[in-house]
Amino acid sequence: MCRTKGYHRSIRGETIIINGVRLMSEDRQQSLIELMSETNFTPFQRDNSKPIPEEIDTEKKLARLKEDALSCTRCALRKGCRQVVFGEGNPNAHLMMVGEGPGSDEDRLGMPFVGRAGQLLDRILEAAQIKRQEIYITNVVKCRPTGNRLPLQPEVDSCLCFLQEQIKIINPEIVICLGALATRTLIDKDASITRSRGNWYKFGTRLYMATFHPAALLRDPGKKKYVWEDFKQIVKVCNSDDNGGQGQ
Ligand code: SF4
Repeated sequence: MCRTKGYHRSIRGETIIINGVRLMSEDRQQSLIELMSETNFTPFQRDNSKPIPEEIDTEKKLARLKEDALSCTRCALRKGCRQVVFGEGNPNAHLMMVGEGPGSDEDRLGMPFVGRAGQLLDRILEAAQIKRQEIYITNVVKCRPTGNRLPLQPEVDSCLCFLQEQIKIINPEIVICLGALATRTLIDKDASITRSRGNWYKFGTRLYMATFHPAALLRDPGKKKYVWEDFKQIVKVCNSDDNGGQGQ
């Protein structure tokens, strides 16, 4: 639970890093109190005051949201795609992964991360001993941008309500942003993936980490070592007692 080995803390301006967990400025005051009063650091704190959601309610809410998404025509992407790719996985996942948008294979099959990048993600998950069916995987936009281009900002803005609602319903402790778009959408609109990856960002009780998109690894295999370093950190936090041991 509390891992004193390798315990490290530092304060740089408005940012606090504890064991590699970077807390944003809104957490600064609380974190300072914790730093002063704690000798051990628990990186993952469940909010026990929060009612435990009935699993069935989560599934129903997610299914209702999916129905809304499947009939959505809020942006022009819907006209150019075969189907809406909502996301898939465990509705009660502790770990959620968010990519950019569906590619051609995803568009054809209606599932996220099933093409070459998805197969690479599967291999990374397998190596990290994270079971895909235990996590939840989705994208920032739910419809495929034609020609596999990056979604435009107005398209992201139109679709963001679905992603925000997915995160709210599933309520994962950890969200992994795969690639620059997810990182800029969920962590910091000015973030650079190269500089942001591998750091933990905490908003409320939820931890976020950015890492390279598997498609970037296909283009540049030299990035694989960084993603593996990131996943080692993810597994470490996933396997902490406070997180119920997901990922084993
Ligand atoms: S990308 Fe999102 S907002 Fe645009 S049509 Fe598809 S589901 Fe709707």
